Amino acid sequence: MLLSYKYRAYPGATTETRLNSALDTCRWLYNTLLEECTTTREHGITPTMRGTQARIVTLKDENPFLKGVYSKVLQMVNYTLWSNIAALSQTKKRGWKIGKLRFKSAFRYRTLNYNQSGFKIDREHGTITFSKIGAIPFTMHRPYAGTVKGVLITRRGDRWYVIVQAEQEVSEPKREGRSVGIDLGLTSFAADSDGAMIENPRFYEYSLKKIKKIQQSIARKKRFSKNWTKAKSKLEKVYDRITNQKGDFLHKLSRRYVDTYATICVEDLDIKGLKEKGNSPGLHRSIHDASWGRFYSYLACKAESAGTNLVKVDPRNTSQICSNCGSIVKKTLSERVHECPYCGFVADRDHNAAVNIHRVGMEQPFEPVETIPLHHISVMQVLSMKQEAPPFRAG
Ligand SMILES: [Zn+2]
Repeated sequence: MLLSYKYRAYPGATTETRLNSALDTCRWLYNTLLEECTTTREHGITPTMRGTQARIVTLKDENPFLKGVYSKVLQMVNYTLWSNIAALSQTKKRGWKIGKLRFKSAFRYRTLNYNQSGFKIDREHGTITFSKIGAIPFTMHRPYAGTVKGVLITRRGDRWYVIVQAEQEVSEPKREGRSVGIDLGLTSFAADSDGAMIENPRFYEYSLKKIKKIQQSIARKKRFSKNWTKAKSKLEKVYDRITNQKGDFLHKLSRRYVDTYATICVEDLDIKGLKEKGNSPGLHRSIHDASWGRFYSYLACKAESAGTNLVKVDPRNTSQICSNCGSIVKKTLSERVHECPYCGFVADRDHNAAVNIHRVGMEQPFEPVETIPLHHISVMQVLSMKQEAPPFRAG
């Protein structure tokens, strides 16, 4: 299992200049290789990854400034280009209408990838030395574990981060203990079979006013002027904050479940294709999709290293079945309460679904459901849960 650990890095002025110039060089290489791929294709020849890889060698002779960047980093530029090409053709195959691969602007090219070699980590002094760049101090707010496979250094606005990718062996025995079912919802982020209702985070909505204000100020400024760049990086910072808040929330929530339960049952969202969940109008479906996907991958990752069982359940009918008697009680998405006309059981819609997910996941028969008081957990409560931030899975 490859885990990524992100740390804030503090390059000095000279090092920062070198980093920015290395980014410029990599961006130039990316765009040059992309352009050559297009030209090759226009001549009826299909470009290959190996071809562009070999081209880097001749490009270096023609453009000596390329030699200012560690050679493995240049190779990774080619690797990134080809992953992007592959991702694009995948999306095309799925029937999406999309254009060509874009050239990278300075705003979009901001990561140097040191894979396998070219870096040296000094844990004692908290520095990472990159070949052709120099030593950069960083704050290791939590230690990483495992064998380091690579280090990325990335710029976000005026901040720098290093991402340490470490390979970890996992062979924890499976735990025994309590189990739970979780239903991911729209009105609340999740409901579980133990009666917890977790509030939906609205980090984006909270920052919307600020975002709009900065966007307006960008629109008033001259493109690429100093103030324009400043406002742009301010906007990036706000988006960064939202991403961090979201990540923090999802990390803490998944940690809470993995720490509390030995078996966690969730819906298999691949089967459902999010169809039922996504039909509700006016909701930012894609935002929900993304958060759910991330929540699942955090759950899976933490469950794996803690020896927790993660059971994926076929989600068909989990919201329609009465968890008390097994009757099908049809309801539309706007009906938030499950009210069974056959046995009289009344429950919150999502809680009823969570009980079903739990029952199916544990392969239990229908049993009378104990009516329990639901307890609401706010986003702030989740965020204030004390814990060491665990790593997130790469890719
Ligand atoms: Zn019933």
